[in-house]
Amino acid sequence: MFIFVGFSPNNQIVPVGVEVNSSGYIITDEKCETSIPGIFAIGDLRQKYANQIVIAAADGCTAALAAAHYVEMKKSRAICCFETTEVVSAGTA
Ligand SMILES: Cc1cc2nc3c(=O)[nH]c(=O)nc-3n(C[C@H](O)[C@H](O)[C@H](O)COP(=O)(O)OP(=O)(O)OC[C@H]3O[C@@H](n4cnc5c(N)ncnc54)[C@H](O)[C@@H]3O)c2cc1C
Repeated sequence: MFIFVGFSPNNQIVPVGVEVNSSGYIITDEKCETSIPGIFAIGDLRQKYANQIVIAAADGCTAALAAAHYVEMKKSRAICCFETTEVVSAGTA
């Protein structure tokens, strides 16, 4: 006989403010980004249809790409915008 005991997410390290569902799973968007921009959740801790190894691995790839993009966007927004009355320039260099 196999007794199904269920699952409960180990979410004690989840930062305050990150949205979780009524069962404690972290709610993310398609990029695995949580309700706090720049914080990502993957694998069994994330609310989704199925908990399988291949999904956790795919989540890791998705979140890594999205996190890298998030950091690049932050860096480019940190560049100053120099303005004169005639010319406005902005960029990453
Ligand atoms: C009995 C069982 C059978 C399963 N069979 C299959 C199967 O046949 N095929 C399949 O695809 N999937 C199976 N799964 C599901 C699969 O194991 C999970 O979906 C997958 O392991 C999720 O990966 P994860 O990285 O999200 O979590 P985990 O694999 O649970 O990894 C989380 C890691 O974080 C560590 N950790 C926790 N808290 C902290 C902390 N505070 N600081 C540092 N580290 C911490 C844990 O020690 C753990 O090593 C099974 C699961 C169970 C329970």
